Amino acid sequence: MDIVVDAMLAHIARWLRMLGVSTIVLDREDEEILEYSVTHNSILITMDKGLFKKATKLGVPAALLKTHIVEEVLAFLSYHLKISLSFPPDNTRCPICNAVLEKMGSRWRCQKCGKEYWIGSHYPSILRKLERARALSKSSSIQRYGILNTPYSLTSLDDTSAAHSSHR
Ligand SMILES: [Zn+2]
Repeated sequence: MDIVVDAMLAHIARWLRMLGVSTIVLDREDEEILEYSVTHNSILITMDKGLFKKATKLGVPAALLKTHIVEEVLAFLSYHLKISLSFPPDNTRCPICNAVLEKMGSRWRCQKCGKEYWIGSHYPSILRKLERARALSKSSSIQRYGILNTPYSLTSLDDTSAAHSSHR
């Protein structure tokens, strides 16, 4: 189960991955994006009204965002898809390639692209953004950030914990 976003929302994909949500960025034609979503049973997130309409017609669960501001998008997705807005140290993904990160002491290593991450100077600003998103997710302004074509929630976000324990 993952989230699919179009190329316009690549910045959101990085945040979702950090929060442990498997997120695929597809810079392709509408038809290919829809086909991928159907095949993989994904939730499509887009700012493109046309794409959203096509998804609705095909029965693909989709969200149409009316904002691209990170805090507002995260608040919206958290509210509707029950995504936790706390940084999960043991279940975080590579912002670049989406692979589950392996925790090694105070660092995280991506086994797919080899990139390493650690708590850096930008961490406080990440926490501030998440805090702001949490506050927004409880406010009535949530209505303005987008719409969903179907009530939907991500249920199996923790199914990556198995991958963590097996070091391949
Ligand atoms: Zn990676």
